[in-house]
Amino acid sequence: MSKPYLKDFTPAELAALPEITPAYRAKQVFAWLHRGVSSAAEMTDLPKALRETLDERYTVSKPTMLRRQISSDGTRKYLWELADGNCVETVLMRYKYGPSVCVSTQAGCRMGCVFCASTKLGLSRNLLPSEILDQILFAGLDCGERVSHVVLMGTGEPLDNYDNVRKFLTLVGTDGGLNIGARNISLSTCGLCDQIDRLADEKLQITLSVSLHAPNDTLRQQIMPIARKYPMEWLLRSCARYFEVTGRRVSYEYIMIRGFNDTPACAEELAERLRGQNAHVNLIRLNNIAESPLRPSLPESVREFQRVLTERGITATVRRRLGDDISAACGQLRREQINRL
Ligand code: SAH
Repeated sequence: MSKPYLKDFTPAELAALPEITPAYRAKQVFAWLHRGVSSAAEMTDLPKALRETLDERYTVSKPTMLRRQISSDGTRKYLWELADGNCVETVLMRYKYGPSVCVSTQAGCRMGCVFCASTKLGLSRNLLPSEILDQILFAGLDCGERVSHVVLMGTGEPLDNYDNVRKFLTLVGTDGGLNIGARNISLSTCGLCDQIDRLADEKLQITLSVSLHAPNDTLRQQIMPIARKYPMEWLLRSCARYFEVTGRRVSYEYIMIRGFNDTPACAEELAERLRGQNAHVNLIRLNNIAESPLRPSLPESVREFQRVLTERGITATVRRRLGDDISAACGQLRREQINRL
């Protein structure tokens, strides 16, 4: 058994550990951890005995940076190796309001979407709360700026790792740590309805992004196995409920695949399905992935699709591409690494 990871604990949980007395030391420990120290030995304002005990009994996690690519637009893509040899990818994008970090929530994924590189090798394991947090912490330290936004949109299905993701959301928002507020966090899901309902009931202020990618079940089921378990009607009901309970507008992601889901008829059908919902649609041109016959839509189809949606009262934006010169599709860095071993 490996030793427990100290960064998995909230300040209150640290204070409850028998080793950490008096309890006010917990706050200091938490602050050091979330500043990115590699061991308790570096927590210089703590008594030496406490530092030694902590290092004996607990782990201070720190992923190894295996690769880093920096794009001409400032986007940084990282490949980290975790303690057990698993690899995860993280992307840091620079915006006017500050850096936004896209984190992975699982090593691999078991959702099986046909267009996605991250799922090709299945799920290796869930990431711990600390392993999700470390991606932001160390990407932020590497770029030298305070990270202001987080998107849970890297490898993995966040709602398939619910408890760890929930705990991560608490940790990342804690004062004394990274302190990133819920309103600056987006969680993207392929649509696990039961978990969306559960998340709604937590009444957090995070943005829910739903990977819709099709205007009906027939098309959706061809590219997303999860659509067989949760029909669109059910999914849209859970999304409407998320909005009712949290007051947060749901955002829908729609990958545009040439000749498959990008016709004006598809746009009309989508607008019809979303009518009356306070929805926002994000159109994304498919990223090519190896060994896939699917191709991105032509730019003019994307523009036409957006026009049809807008005309029918649905706000739609086309996602800006960042880091084009460094990144292949989502999940490809990790896959290359695994193929090399
Ligand atoms: N499992 C979650 C989050 C990870 S995927 C989800 O499904 O939402 C993050 C986003 O990238 C999703 O919208 C996903 O559909 C999209 N994506 C995956 N492969 C892609 C590709 N080849 N091109 C464009 N977007 C892709």
